[in-house]
Formats: sequence, structure tokens, C-alpha cells
Amino acid sequence: MNYTEDDLLPISALQHLAFCPRQWALIHLEGQWTDNRLTAEGIIMHDRAHNDEDESRGDLRITRGLRLRSLRWGLIGQADVVEFHKSENPEQSIKLEGQPGFWQPFIIEYKHGKPKLGHEDEVQLCAQALCLEEMLGVTLSSASFFYGQPRRRQDVVLHEILRQETEALITQLHELFAAGVTPDPVYAPFCHSCSLEKVCLPKVVRGQHSVKDYIHQLIQKSEDAV
Ligand code: SF4
Repeated sequence: MNYTEDDLLPISALQHLAFCPRQWALIHLEGQWTDNRLTAEGIIMHDRAHNDEDESRGDLRITRGLRLRSLRWGLIGQADVVEFHKSENPEQSIKLEGQPGFWQPFIIEYKHGKPKLGHEDEVQLCAQALCLEEMLGVTLSSASFFYGQPRRRQDVVLHEILRQETEALITQLHELFAAGVTPDPVYAPFCHSCSLEKVCLPKVVRGQHSVKDYIHQLIQKSEDAV
């Protein structure tokens, strides 16, 4: 079954969901968002990646800010950079308008910081690959991150286990979005690196589905006390 245009959810939501389902719900269901220094630097880096011109260098073509979409997976997003490498092999390659020969696509995602301990970045990159594969009718074997600190490129193999993990998370994303309920917080050490810690209140909000519920209950208690 394919999704429709109205069902499409942002690819970027997957990294939030992989990090913490409550963080995903606070951002994508409740519209809460708190920029910290790291997220602000990330936004600037992505903007730069998207705004640069497309490029042509020998047997390499580079396009920036390519819109991605998959009706199979119900996702929409944007790739920072897609490189096309000249290839003799028509398999896993495409024709480019006005360019002779075959060209193999390769996704590069910009990250302002260093590699994370968890899998959330890899899952997001794999989801971008699933979209591009559907759009171009190819299978990608790998993709890359370009990290800002230190500045270096890191390849990611798009193996079967990563694909299965990504597909399961996409299914969960659509189910949680349809349910529309913010999960309770589960306090963990990684809460300290969460940009929404002050909004989430993981140590104090227990048994309330949303921050709104928590504040409502606080007001209710103070009114009862008068
Ligand atoms: S503070 Fe912790 S529980 Fe709350 S959204 Fe962030 S990671 Fe999740």
C-alpha cells in the first residue's frame, strides 16, 4: 500500500524518534522546539549546504538541496548533497539530461558536530537513501556524512540490518503520528544532551502525556488550594 501526498511525514522526524519518542512527539505533535547552540549551528550548516550552487567537476556532478519523496514509505525531505559519479556500469546508475554515459548517485548529509553514539543519524541517512532509490529506480550501497568537528567524511554502508531498522522506525513514525499521543518521559542520562530537556521536564512530568497536561494539572492544584 502506498501513502498519499497528505500522509507524507518529514524524514528529519526519524532522528528525533530514534533519539527519544517523547522528543519526537514534543517537536512534531506539540510544536515545541528549543534551539540550543548545537541545533543553531546545525541549521546554519544545512542552510549553507543547500544554498551553494550545483557543481560540475570532471566526472562528477554535484546537486544541492534535492527534494526527496517516497510514497512507499510516506516520507518527504531534502538531501544536503547528491553526487553523481560517471560510471561505465548502467546498473545502479542513471542517465542525466544533457550528459553522456551513466551516472551513479551518492548522498552526503552534513552534520555540524561529531558522530553520535546512537544510530539516529544513520537511520535518517538510510531513509534519505530509500527515498532517492524510489525516485531514481536504483539501489544505493552506501552514503556519507560530512562532519563539522573535525571536518571529515564518513561512509555508511546501507546494509540489510540498517535498512530493516529504518523501515521499522518509519512504520512506528506513522503509527505514533496517527495515534497523536505524546509518550511519558523516561529519564535517562542522554536527557542532558536533549535540546528539549527544559520543556520536557523528564524528572517531574510523570503520568502526564504532555507538558500542557502537566501545566493544566499544576494550575488545577493551585486553584484547589485557594
Ligand atoms: S529530556 Fe529526555 S525524556 Fe525528555 S524528550 Fe529529551 S530525551 Fe526524551
